[in-house]
Amino acid sequence: MGYLDVFTHLEALAILLLIFLISIVFKFVDFGGIIASFIVGYLIYVFGGREYFIALITFYLVSVILTKIRVKKVREVENKEDGVRGWRNVVANGFTATVAAVASGLSADHRVFFATYLGALSSAFADTLATEVGLMYPGMPRLITSMKKVKPGTPGAVTPLGYMGGLMGMTVLALVASIIDKRLSFYEVAAIVFLPGLVGMTIDSILGATIQAKYRCRICGKNTESSSHCGEKSEQIKGVRYINTHTVNLIATIIGGTIAYTLANIFLQ
Ligand SMILES: [Zn+2]
Repeated sequence: MGYLDVFTHLEALAILLLIFLISIVFKFVDFGGIIASFIVGYLIYVFGGREYFIALITFYLVSVILTKIRVKKVREVENKEDGVRGWRNVVANGFTATVAAVASGLSADHRVFFATYLGALSSAFADTLATEVGLMYPGMPRLITSMKKVKPGTPGAVTPLGYMGGLMGMTVLALVASIIDKRLSFYEVAAIVFLPGLVGMTIDSILGATIQAKYRCRICGKNTESSSHCGEKSEQIKGVRYINTHTVNLIATIIGGTIAYTLANIFLQ
């Protein structure tokens, strides 16, 4: 294994092609999402190796399947992607983990970068599952900042069920990571997954409630988190311009990765 080994590249290509065939058949991602996932998956496979890729694919499959179940069984939520992921979603969730995997492949310090990778992935996984599972909550969610009741799908809205979903994601990731990688003990893996995951998903909600831009449609009058609605540019009513749900996700994974990197440098040396 290793990025200098031609068989690693062939193995990565073969497995990614198989996963993309499945993704296309089940419409997990759109065309842009496929290209972005391919780049993220390929870099993680060849620089990180099989263990990194297995953790990634666990996140990918659990979240796309949960999204499909939520869209089918529960409710379509305004502003949320209709179960098909685009490239922005993939980049927002995968960028920090990809950087950690490449750094791991290029350096001798595999334990620290594997920890960073898990921390970034854990933030993305916890937040994605908190969103998907939280949308199945039967009651009204509350805004993380003011604790006022808001509509499902509002940026920064939290539910007890969502937190359960996040914990579920982190538990799955910790179990998978400790089984596939023997360089870290289960307790080390648990610390590296749970702390960044919990902090990452909470920061994601706080940023969503505060700095994320919110808009109102000029045509239908609905509040939305996208800068255009009904084919027209929407009016910005709150938050910071250009900070959208993907930017918030990216920031949360950078914070998650940084926490794991710091923990690893203190405790794994
Ligand atoms: Zn509209």
